[in-house]
Amino acid sequence: MFTKLFTPKKINQCEIPNRLAVTAMVANYCNEDGTATDRYIAYHEAKAKGGWGLIITEDYAVSQHAMGYQFIAGLWNDDQIASHKKLTDTIHQYDSKIFAQIYHAGRQSASFVNGGVQPVAPSAIPCPWLRQLPRELTIPEIEQIVEDFGDCALRAKQAGFDGIEVHAGHGYLIAEFMSTYVNKRTDKYGGCLDNRLRFVKEIYANIRGKVGDDFPVMIRFSADEVVQGGRDISESRVLAKLFAEWGFDALHVSSGAYGDHNKGIVSPMYVSHAWTVDFAAEIKRIVDIPVFTVNRINDPRMADGLLEMGKADFIGMGRGSLADPELPNKAKAGDLTAIRYCIGCMQGCVGKLLVGEAITCLVNPSLGQEYHLDYSKVTKPKKVLIAGGGPGGLEAARAAAIKGHAVTLYEKGSFLGGQFKSAAYPPCKGELATYTNWITSELDQLGVTIHLNRELTKELVAAEKPDTVIVATGGTPCKPAIKGIDKALVVTAEDALLGNVATGDQIVVAGGGEVGSETAAHLAMQQRDVTIIEMLPKICSDLDGVNKFNLMKILREYEVNQLTQTKVVEILDDGVIIENSQGQQTLPADTVVIALGYRPNNQLAEALSAVHNHVIVIGGAVKTSNAMVAINDGFNAGLSL
Ligand code: SF4
Repeated sequence: MFTKLFTPKKINQCEIPNRLAVTAMVANYCNEDGTATDRYIAYHEAKAKGGWGLIITEDYAVSQHAMGYQFIAGLWNDDQIASHKKLTDTIHQYDSKIFAQIYHAGRQSASFVNGGVQPVAPSAIPCPWLRQLPRELTIPEIEQIVEDFGDCALRAKQAGFDGIEVHAGHGYLIAEFMSTYVNKRTDKYGGCLDNRLRFVKEIYANIRGKVGDDFPVMIRFSADEVVQGGRDISESRVLAKLFAEWGFDALHVSSGAYGDHNKGIVSPMYVSHAWTVDFAAEIKRIVDIPVFTVNRINDPRMADGLLEMGKADFIGMGRGSLADPELPNKAKAGDLTAIRYCIGCMQGCVGKLLVGEAITCLVNPSLGQEYHLDYSKVTKPKKVLIAGGGPGGLEAARAAAIKGHAVTLYEKGSFLGGQFKSAAYPPCKGELATYTNWITSELDQLGVTIHLNRELTKELVAAEKPDTVIVATGGTPCKPAIKGIDKALVVTAEDALLGNVATGDQIVVAGGGEVGSETAAHLAMQQRDVTIIEMLPKICSDLDGVNKFNLMKILREYEVNQLTQTKVVEILDDGVIIENSQGQQTLPADTVVIALGYRPNNQLAEALSAVHNHVIVIGGAVKTSNAMVAINDGFNAGLSL
C-alpha cells in the first residue's frame, strides 16, 4: 500500500526508521522548572510505541525567560538534564529517534509565564494575541541568547537526544529577527536580509561549535508567515539555501505566526489538508538536505503520495499523533479503518493552550493520561447497560468493553453519534464523521451489543438486572416560551442540518451561537436567504477565536444577515417579529430554525436511578456541555468500572 512511508532516511548520521515525524506541539505537561514529568515521558512513549520514525519534542526553553507557556520543557541548566535523559532512555527502548526542539518565545510570551519578566523582542511591538508590550533587546542580551541556544543544544546532546531542531518559525524570537514585520532595528541585526539573519547565523555557529559536526541540527521556519507584511515564499527560498549552505542538516518547512488566525501554524478544519506542501516542494528543489512538510496531513496515504511525488522527505503530523499515537503501526499493518483521525477541531489541543492548560484531544481521551491509565481486564466482568449512542455513550461502551465488561448499548434513535452526526453537516465539518465511524468499528470488534431504535427503560433494566447502568442521553434543544414557537414553520437546528425537514427560501435562525451560526452557514450555502437573530452583542461568542474567524468569513461570503442585540418576540405563519433598540419589525420567513441552546436530558437518569442502585450519569445529561466533555466522561466512567 505504501511505497516510501516506511523506508528509512538519514539526517546527518542519524537514521530515522520511517518518514513519519511527530512535529513539535506544546503539551504543558512538564514541571514549572522545565523538568520532565512521568506524564510528559509517557505521552512521548505512546508515540514511540506507536511506530513514529522521529519524535520532535515540544519547545525546550533555552533560558528561564524564554518560555512561552508555563509548563513546557527547558534545558537552561545542568540540573534539568537527568529528567530529560529518562525521556530519551524510554524512547530508545523502541525504534523511534527523538529530537529536542529548542527555542526562545520572544514577544510571543507574557510576563505571567515568565516569572513576571517583560517579554523581549527585536523591536517593541506586541504580539497580536498576547498583546503585552515587549522590550527591545540590547546587543549584549542578544549575544547572551546566542550562547543560551548553544548551551541548550549541548545539554540536549548530553540528555541523550538524537538531534535538535532550532525553532525559527511561527513568530518566536528567531523568526521575529528574520522578518521585517516585527524587526524594525537599524543596527547590525535589522534592515537588510543579512542583518536580519545574523542572529540565527550566530546561533547556528554557536550550536555547531558546541555539539560537533556529527550531531543532527535541523531548523524549522515559516515559508509563509500568513500575516500582513510577513515573509512569504520568495524570501524563504533564499533563507533555505543559506541554511543549507551554513550546515543545517534538514529543513522543516512550516508556516504562520501568532495572529495568523491559525491558518498557518495549526490549521483548523476550515483549511485544506497539506495546504503548505508546495512550499516544501519548492524548497526541496533547491537544497540537497532532507525537507519536512507539515500542516493538516492526517492520512498516511496522503503522506505517502507526497513522498512519492518528491514534495518532501519527511511528513510531519502533530495533531495526527495526538489523536492516534498508533497511527504508523496501524498504517503499516494496512488497517486504516482502525486509525482515529484528527478532525481538526482545535478544541483539546490548541483550545487548552489558549487558556494556559495542558493539552487534551477531543477524540482521544487518553491523551496526557497514559502514565496512570490501567487497561488491564477485570477479574469479575460486569453486565453494563448504556443508554444513549452519542459520543459519551459510545466512549463509555468502548472503555468498559476494553476492561472486559459485557456491554449493551441502547439508542432510541436510528443512528449512532448523537449530535455529532448533525455537527458534521455545516461547511468544512465533514470529518467529524470519521470519529463516529471509527468508534462504531471499535465497538464491533470489542463485541459490544448495540440496539438502535430502542430506548433503555425501567422495565428493561428490571429484566436485564445489570450491575451498572450508564446514562448518556445528552441534551435536548431549548424551546423557550415564544409566542408561535409550535407553528409548523419552526424547526430545530438538528432537523434542518440532517435534512429531516425541507427548509424554505427565507430563513430566520433564532440563536447566533456556534450551532445557530453553523446552521445558518449550511443553509446559506444552499443559496437560501438567511438571517441570524442573536440577543448578545456578537454572534459566535461561544467559539474560540480561530474557529470564529473562519466561520464568520463563510457567513460574510454567503451574505448571511446578522442582527445582534435583537430578540424574537413572536413567530407568525409567514415571518418573525423581532425587537431591538430600533423598536419592533417583522421579518418575512418561511422557515424559523431554533438554535437557542440545550438543557440536560436527565429524565431517564432520574427514572432509572429510582429502580437501580448503580446508575452513572455523564456528559450533557448532567450539565450542558460539549462532545469533548461527553467523550471524556464516557471514557472515565467506562474505565472505572
Ligand atoms: Fe485534532 Fe481536535 Fe484532537 Fe486537536 S483536539 S488533535 S484538532 S482532534
